[in-house]
Amino acid sequence: MSQYSSQHPITQPDHQARKRFGQNFLHDAHIIRKIIQAIAPQPGQHLLEIGPGQGALTIPLVNSGATLDVVELDRDLAGWLQHHFADCERFTLHMGDVLKFELHTLTQLPRSIRVIGNLPYNISTPCLFHLLESEALIDDMTFMLQKEVVQRLAATPDDDEYGRLSVMVQYFCSVEHLFDVPPGAFKPAPKVTSAIVRLVPHRHTKDQAMDTTLLRDLVRTAFSQRRKTLRNCLKPMIGDLDANALPVDLALRPENLTVADYVRLSNAICRLRRDATR
Ligand code: SAM
Repeated sequence: MSQYSSQHPITQPDHQARKRFGQNFLHDAHIIRKIIQAIAPQPGQHLLEIGPGQGALTIPLVNSGATLDVVELDRDLAGWLQHHFADCERFTLHMGDVLKFELHTLTQLPRSIRVIGNLPYNISTPCLFHLLESEALIDDMTFMLQKEVVQRLAATPDDDEYGRLSVMVQYFCSVEHLFDVPPGAFKPAPKVTSAIVRLVPHRHTKDQAMDTTLLRDLVRTAFSQRRKTLRNCLKPMIGDLDANALPVDLALRPENLTVADYVRLSNAICRLRRDATR
């Protein structure tokens, strides 16, 4: 297997990091090694890297022997990556916006693709929600995010950070905060600490929502006024439905409910609405 040099940067050394693309390039060899060890890519695996940038993670990922697709929005970086990996059959570059990229164009096989990315912080939440639409195709995801976002992803009921992001991501995946990464590991250095998180889509969901769109609306509505009781903040959703038939105490606040509670509540609303139209 031919090895690509991990000399960094692999591209034009005079590339000016573009703020609008959330470009903070990893340059700390120890951190890069730690991330690759956490991913542990294997020959034959199918990987998708979001925002390869100057290739800090891309080179060791390609060198692992895995098949790698990458999505990069910056035209200059995409051009240089294409040139650098021109001879590698296992490497495919997709130039464009990850938010418009459809995973099913890469694979139809359930749980067949591993997603990786030092995500541009300005699109990290929409990117997570976009990927979750294709969660059935994903084996696992390892991301660098702002530490504060990782804490929200991993938060449990009654934590200050517990909210819409925690409930919806934990509905689809298990969340593991692996380790923190200091600002000095990047060029330019961001203002905040980052963290590596692993998300693994559930193989079997015991608490299955009958209508995921309804669950999403419910969680959004509940956390839009997180200091109010559920009775108050869910008024627009419950309307004329029989509140006594709902399986949770409406005197609680949104942050008190577990993911399973939200699923039960959403399914109860779904049934009551169905009965009301009969
Ligand atoms: N992976 C590199 C590293 O770790 O050094 C670069 C990470 S940098 C934080 C984010 C990368 O995502 C940049 O290369 C940027 O151009 C790219 N990017 C930004 N917005 C994007 C989008 N909407 N779709 C795909 N790539 C994007």
